[in-house]
Amino acid sequence: MTAYWCEHLLRIGDTVIDGALVEVAGERITSVSTVDAPPPGAVVLRGLTVPGLANAHSHAFHRALRGRTHGGHGSFWTWRDQMYGLVERLDPDTYYALARAVYGEMALAGITCVGEFHYLHHGPGGIPYDDPNAMGSALIAAAHDAGIRITLLDTCYLHGGIGVEPNEVQRRFSDLDVERWIGRVGDLRAGTTGSPHARLGVALHSVRAVDPHSIAVASMWAADRRWPFHAHVSEQPAENEACRAKYGVSPVGLFARHGAISRRFTAVHANHVDHDDIATLGAAHAVVCCCPTTERDLADGAAPTGRLERAGVRLTVGSDSHAVIDLFEEMRAVETHERLSTLARGNHRIASLLAAGTEAGHESLGWPDGGVIGPGQLADLVTLSLDSVRTAGGGASAATAVFAATAADVVHVVSSGRVIVRDGAHATMDVPAELGRTIGALYT
Ligand SMILES: [Zn+2]
Repeated sequence: MTAYWCEHLLRIGDTVIDGALVEVAGERITSVSTVDAPPPGAVVLRGLTVPGLANAHSHAFHRALRGRTHGGHGSFWTWRDQMYGLVERLDPDTYYALARAVYGEMALAGITCVGEFHYLHHGPGGIPYDDPNAMGSALIAAAHDAGIRITLLDTCYLHGGIGVEPNEVQRRFSDLDVERWIGRVGDLRAGTTGSPHARLGVALHSVRAVDPHSIAVASMWAADRRWPFHAHVSEQPAENEACRAKYGVSPVGLFARHGAISRRFTAVHANHVDHDDIATLGAAHAVVCCCPTTERDLADGAAPTGRLERAGVRLTVGSDSHAVIDLFEEMRAVETHERLSTLARGNHRIASLLAAGTEAGHESLGWPDGGVIGPGQLADLVTLSLDSVRTAGGGASAATAVFAATAADVVHVVSSGRVIVRDGAHATMDVPAELGRTIGALYT
């Protein structure tokens, strides 16, 4: 049993408790009570403690593009060519080392759970490794060794575009058909038994990479298992145009037509959705995962988050390409990007923005027992400094957490009952050194 005394605690919503004792046994919280002063033996957490953050959309290897792909002209599509160049340098060993460093960076940013949208499955030429799940297993091991939980969203990626064969790089993503993809994911499930930090979900890469038959089969298969089900949706206008030209409907319309849209469905991006798409997603109480720092880096556009939320959609956030790993920035950008398009402030409640990065994110990744500080929940505590140059003077409030704090203000992180960050440093890793070493090796 460990007791943490929090100077200020934001359990859920936007109500702060001044002086709270959180008792933890193993990986779970046993009690939360109001206690004015730290009792003997308690670990003292000075600052504002918030629930662990869930990064609902990650491609770990994209982190190696940071600082190398932001200048010059181009679009999502020219950036994608640079990303494909990186794929050629990854194998299970190099990907493990890179992902471990990236998940270490996430731990330092207060992220205790990551949804890894994983599609780099096979070796060069699309030839499976001896263990066909070697890459997915490397990611699960990397998350464990960095101290965070993972939902591996194993991604079905079959085609290079609508009606287009995969190119040389894309062959590494493809299982050739949906039945073989299901067989491989079934084996992966057996391999994760006994890894309490890991859960499985599945994803469809996008309407570009799957076909109606695959959507229908995968949807039914995921529904039978009640797994999280994610897909990139309407990230770019060109995706909508290609989908309408082939199928006569939008990407949301196509996914709905073949049974993909439900409460367990997360539409990643949803930047270019129309009135009907919003109504479809809202009626199903589906999730939309916003990735604002990536979407602005790639000139993608931004989701109409106010209209989506009013229709019944739940919002989450992800750092996606990892141009930035800072979920505080993602949470506030959901609101600030909406301000740019509506010319109005206050489109989202602060509690709703915080939930996007915590409770709703965990739920969309299949961890309904995370993202809230309460009895029976997973023991994730993220403490923010209130005396940094960014947060000083703002007070202990949800507004300070969402609108002033950054990842750099995270000083202490407990993940599933384990201390993984102390005084701003990772407990077991030299994260900057590992990032520098592993990314540097990919470019030599
Ligand atoms: Zn993505």
